[in-house]
Amino acid sequence: MAHINEDFLKLPGAYLFSEIAQKVKTFKAEHPEADVISLGIGDVTQPLVPAVVDALHRAADELADGATFRGYGPERGYDFLRRAIVENDFQARGINISEDEVFVNDGAKSDTGNFQELLGKDVRIAVTDPIYPVYIDANVMGGRTGVLGSNGHWSHVVYLPCVAENGFVPELPHARERVDVIYLCYPNNPTGTTLSRKELQRWVHYALEHDALIFYDAAYEAYIQNEDIPHSIYEVEGARRCSVEFRSFSKTAGFTGVRCGYTVVPRTVTATTKMGDRITLNPLWNRRQSTKFNGTSYLSQRAAEAIYTPEGKEQIRQTIRYYMENARLMRDALGDMGFHVDGGTDAPYLWVRTPEGCTSWGFFDEMLQRAQVVCTPGVGFGPAGEGFVRLTAFGRHEATREALKRIQTQIQI
Ligand SMILES: *Cc1c(COP(=O)(O)O)cnc(C)c1O
Repeated sequence: MAHINEDFLKLPGAYLFSEIAQKVKTFKAEHPEADVISLGIGDVTQPLVPAVVDALHRAADELADGATFRGYGPERGYDFLRRAIVENDFQARGINISEDEVFVNDGAKSDTGNFQELLGKDVRIAVTDPIYPVYIDANVMGGRTGVLGSNGHWSHVVYLPCVAENGFVPELPHARERVDVIYLCYPNNPTGTTLSRKELQRWVHYALEHDALIFYDAAYEAYIQNEDIPHSIYEVEGARRCSVEFRSFSKTAGFTGVRCGYTVVPRTVTATTKMGDRITLNPLWNRRQSTKFNGTSYLSQRAAEAIYTPEGKEQIRQTIRYYMENARLMRDALGDMGFHVDGGTDAPYLWVRTPEGCTSWGFFDEMLQRAQVVCTPGVGFGPAGEGFVRLTAFGRHEATREALKRIQTQIQI
């Protein structure tokens, strides 16, 4: 008889976005005439930039010709892309990362979810609350999280609340609390807030002092406007010894459908066996990838390479400017209405406090019913997200303006 991996059964039922989609579907069925605008799900709306489209066409032509056809590529990615990544994302910022420390993948979700496979079952993870659900759910599947309490927290997980009182900056774990791995995501999804260099440095110090690892998700680094905010954890001293960084072209260049990202595993990051021997993670991750992953498509990698050309850089900068203009409009309009809004200055997300006495889902319903605008209930990202909703700046200008107009006329604060 085939027994199931019961760790999978521990996962709570409905995935946040399915629940939202269900509610929207019901609303549309009851109001077929309604024009619903989504400021909810974190997908982009602007098309691929010309430099990327040209690269895709050229790569397709190469694959169409026997003389230039390519089949399986290197599991860790083509040299041309890893070179472009190292030069532009790291060396240009004075960061020392080499090409054999970069693993190209099919997007950051895969690796942020899979990387925990390298760790023992007894490892204790810490996550911020609220959180991008992939980190925690992957560890549930890995059998590392204990049981889910009625408070929405797993018994073996250390939670770092990010709330208005601490400015959405997580505090270090208590001294008596053992933490082996810390997941950090900055600029943050869902709160849209960032960590300063000093705040990030505190975490790196903590990790080095406690022999812990930091898994740093920088999927939104391209949205940083403030020059003092680090784009990479490796801008902080000591991070090369304790941190793995995840990057994605999804939000940087509209690759949510193309699929490409990368993970940086410095040769200096180690974890120990039960006997205390030091194991270097880089070759272990390479072993894992060459067994379970056969590389990202040549097309995607040529497309990603094009982002680093002078035209590509300028074009994606324009798209990001487009989204950040939405963010500014949203911040201004909601702020003028008296809403308390965080994020949206260095990230495409706004974290909006619901009106007094209104829950996340209550406000979601009110926005849908009264303004026909879809937002994401903050509590879906963790208990500390209760009392907030997340709005995204990924909409089209016209739709975003229309949504704001409706919120201004239909919603009471
Ligand atoms: C969108 C997103 C990613 C990127 O996922 P891809 O698989 O690269 O599309 C990673 N982390 C966070 C927090 C995200 O919001």
